[in-house]
Order: sequence, then C-alpha cells, then structure tokens
Amino acid sequence: MSLSTQPRLQLWTEGHVVHAVGEEHGRDLTRIALFPRQVELLEDTPDDDDDDDVRILHGGPGTAKTILLLLRGVSWSRDGCDTVFNIQTRHDGEAAAYLVSHQLRETVARARQGDTVAQPVFTVQHVNMAPWWDQRNKDWTEEGRLAVAAWCDARSEDRKVHIIADEANGHIISHLYRELKGRGCTVKLWAAGVKLKIPDDMTRYVRQITAPLRCPPCVVREVEQANGMKHGRVPRYTKPPVKPPCDGPPVITITHYKEDYSGDREGHQAEGEDVPWRCEECGRRVAHTLLHTLHLGRHDNGPGEQGGLRYNDVFIMGPYIDCAPDTPDDNGDSPAPFIRGLRQLGIPTRVVHPGDSEAVRRVAENSWTGVAVADAVTIVEERTVWGLERKVVVYLDMGRGLDADTTGRMVSMSRSTAQVVWVKPEPYRYR
Ligand SMILES: [Zn+2]
Repeated sequence: MSLSTQPRLQLWTEGHVVHAVGEEHGRDLTRIALFPRQVELLEDTPDDDDDDDVRILHGGPGTAKTILLLLRGVSWSRDGCDTVFNIQTRHDGEAAAYLVSHQLRETVARARQGDTVAQPVFTVQHVNMAPWWDQRNKDWTEEGRLAVAAWCDARSEDRKVHIIADEANGHIISHLYRELKGRGCTVKLWAAGVKLKIPDDMTRYVRQITAPLRCPPCVVREVEQANGMKHGRVPRYTKPPVKPPCDGPPVITITHYKEDYSGDREGHQAEGEDVPWRCEECGRRVAHTLLHTLHLGRHDNGPGEQGGLRYNDVFIMGPYIDCAPDTPDDNGDSPAPFIRGLRQLGIPTRVVHPGDSEAVRRVAENSWTGVAVADAVTIVEERTVWGLERKVVVYLDMGRGLDADTTGRMVSMSRSTAQVVWVKPEPYRYR
C-alpha cells in the first residue's frame, strides 16, 4: 500500500471553495475544500456597530481553523493591512505560531505575484504573550501587565490593529481585546482553539466549527472517543455534508506487551520495559511497518513524485518522552532504545526538543534545506507539535488504560492526515 503525496485528504463539496495555502518544494502544502459553513464564517459580517472584526473559532482538531485564520489574514492584506500580529498565548503554542507566520507570509507573497501595482511590505510579527500570563489567577503577571500595556500603547498610535491567534487561550485573548478597546483601537482579531474558555462578555464572538477536514474517517472515529470530545470540552464533530471518498487506511496496531488474557501473543515485552519508547523491538517493528507496509524511503519518493511517502511525513510521538539532548539514554523517559531499533533498520531520525526553537520552527515549516539529515522521521513529545499535521502519526501510547483517552487520541492521533500506527503498551481493552 502506498499513500499519495498529495498532502491532504481532499473533500469536494457542493458549492465548494478550494484554497491553496502555502507552498513547499513548488507544490501546494495544503489544498483543501472548505464546506459552505466555513465559507459562511469568512463572509459573516461583523455583529458590532464599529469597524471591529472579531471571531473566536472553537472546534476539534483538523476542522480548518488555522486555514480560516490564514484566509482572514490574506484578506486583511488585500485591504491594505501591512502588519499582522501573530499572538502566541500558550507555552506549547510555539509550533502552531511558527506555522501560521510562515504560511501567512508565503500565501500573501504568492497572492501578490503578478500584481502590477506596488504593494506595501507585508510583515507578520510573532509575539509570545504566554510568559506575560498567570494561569492560576487568570490575569497578567506584574511584569506582563507592564509589557502588555506598552505593547497596546504602541498599537494605539496606529489606531487599528490586526491580530491572529491560533491555539489560543481565551482569557488572554479577551484581556488583550479589552486593553486595546480601552485605548480606542479598532480591533481585527481572529482567534481559534480546541479547548477554549471564553469570558461571558466575549462569547458573542465565538463560532463553533465542527466538520472534520484533516483526518480520514477511520482516524476521526478515534479522535471522537477522546474524553475532551465525549465530555463536551471540545465541540463534537459533525458529519461532513458530503460523504468522504474513502474511509482511509485502517489504524495499524503494534503490540508491545507480551500477551493478554484474550490470548493475544503478538507482543515481545522484556522486563523493565513498560512503555514502547524504552523498547528496541518496538523501534524495529515500527521501522518494519514504515518500510514494508507504508513503503517509506522508496526511490520514487522525491518531491513531485506520486505514490510514496517521505520520512519527513512521519511524526513519532507520545506523552512525556524526554527529547532533551542531554538526557541520559538510561533515563526512563528517554526514547533512546526505541530510536536504536529504528536506526538498526536504517530509518533516518531527528529528535526535536521543545526548548530548541530553531528545530521547532523547522518542524512547523517542514523545511529542512541545508540540514545534514534532511529527510528523517521526527520523534517528539506530543505537545511540542500541537497544531501541526503529518501524513503518518506513530503514537507511542504510555498505556495505564488512560493515555489514549485523555490525550493520545486528541493530541497525537489527530495530527494524522492519512495513517495512524498505534503502539500499545499493555493489554488494556481499548474500545
Ligand atoms: Zn516493545
């Protein structure tokens, strides 16, 4: 079986609108058909009597929230806006912020190609407000209050401010909005998030967005079982208005544990290896699947070639994996044994630590030009790449009957646009 190099599931709809966002190696990074509901969200006129344009999109993973923010940014640039502020409000929101900045710059530049009239220089400024926020008190820190005041004072000179905030913290967005309105600014603010708590005075700006566009149906069924969605903290997916063209390749399971009471004896667990990332054999089995089931690394996998996957198309992820370069191999959180297994079968790997901003930026932009290991699978703690997507997600479940339900389905599996490989550590009866 091979998966198409087309980076996304394409869903064609009645009255569809197709937008290409971003570009990579001369081909579209994302080509997506929006449903009428999503087009409505873009065309929906502001419900305030002044010139504000505020929307807070609330929806599960892969519902095209980021795409809508990007399209809004592009439309602002067409209206003469020369600076969009890309506000990061969560400590684990760095990758998502890099992705938005990169794609917005690229998309505006591409939209302007062939323009005969000179345009003002367009910039996207990434501002990280997460350190300014006290999560416990739901307010700015002392230093943050001064910093945000200075930032808003500077904006009030222009009177009009354009803000995009993906994977947003609703409280920070609301506080920021009030600060800017208090200074008489006209505020264009589009934010989005999966788990969003919005103060009462801002709920009128919230729009739910619920049609799954990223993941194929067989992955959507897993994400729907995540606690966050079952308990309503994340809006439930709705059925797409058009039936998807296929169910997608079934989730592949790799069994770490030795056997269970139902007589499954596929596992291989050795003593002391509770979790898959401490297991060389799991690494070898994942490598075998990547090479022989998904056909990674074949000769026809070059850019522009159809019919294959690149190592860059793979995230290997799970909770609490310690990807710091100075973590000893024998540390129980280090994925070193698993990586040894991968390498024994010749899989090129890169390990990305959340503290390495340059590496996180490269993952977000999926751009490895000039890097020694250009095409490699990415091994990463799941939160580091929150907001990104890849065709193949290998999910290293930490088990204990909980991980998949609490975070794994929502955070790891939902990154997949095509194939999930689920490495299960224990004989828990998953639904
Ligand atoms: Zn194993």
